[in-house]
Amino acid sequence: MIDSVTIRNRALRWPVPVGLARRLTGALVQTVERRGKFILMDCRGPRSAGVLLLHLGMTGTLRVLPATTPLRTHDHVDLRFGADVLRFNDPRRFGAILWHDNALGDVLVASSHLRGLGVEPLEAAFAGELGGVLLYERSRGRELAIKQLLLAGQVVVGVGNIYASESLFGAGIHPATSAGRISRARYQRLAQAIRLTMAQAIEAGGSTLRDFVASNGAPGYFQDEYFVYGREGEACRNCGARIRQLRQGQRASFYCPNCQRR
Ligand SMILES: [Zn+2]
Repeated sequence: MIDSVTIRNRALRWPVPVGLARRLTGALVQTVERRGKFILMDCRGPRSAGVLLLHLGMTGTLRVLPATTPLRTHDHVDLRFGADVLRFNDPRRFGAILWHDNALGDVLVASSHLRGLGVEPLEAAFAGELGGVLLYERSRGRELAIKQLLLAGQVVVGVGNIYASESLFGAGIHPATSAGRISRARYQRLAQAIRLTMAQAIEAGGSTLRDFVASNGAPGYFQDEYFVYGREGEACRNCGARIRQLRQGQRASFYCPNCQRR
């Protein structure tokens, strides 16, 4: 049960809703799920039934700490559960804490933040041939680079910068290739590479909720096994060529100029 809510700063990416503390106090958290970059906490309380939406933005962290832990700069919101507190810290304040009232309908359909998100890479809608078909059909006529399409989350969600770089390497596709020019067969390989990469990441303890709420704040990615990510200038594990880096929309992309083609 949420015993109390402390909001020290409402000025996040979108303002923290007025009345949120009143709605959440005394509420039970029924489930916690992830959808794209949002964490969804289904809350039922004496004054409310709805979903708390949390987004970490660029620099946000959520940590479970003893409630007595001294505050640091940028500790904006606390949810206290007994002797522990779930603390949201975000120096750049691109993160968000929002509320969806269940009276407005199912959050996945009714929330403008979640509507229009793509499918999860490991769910049935992306399995087998479906993933490749989905990528192919949703990319026709689109000029943007395939890496950007993956990060945008409109076709498939949850494929972040690291996983996008690794998946494109697995499929032999250069990250700057126009999404609309990639063939159906290559998208089948990409979909398979995405599923494999995401499954390995989860097995290694990365991804899913543990990224967001690890008590030490350190994500458990599979760093040691990267093929290209963060390896600029090092030898490709497949062909020995030097891994290169390029900037796409302010994010670094890593690729092998020999194994990955446009
Ligand atoms: Zn290579």
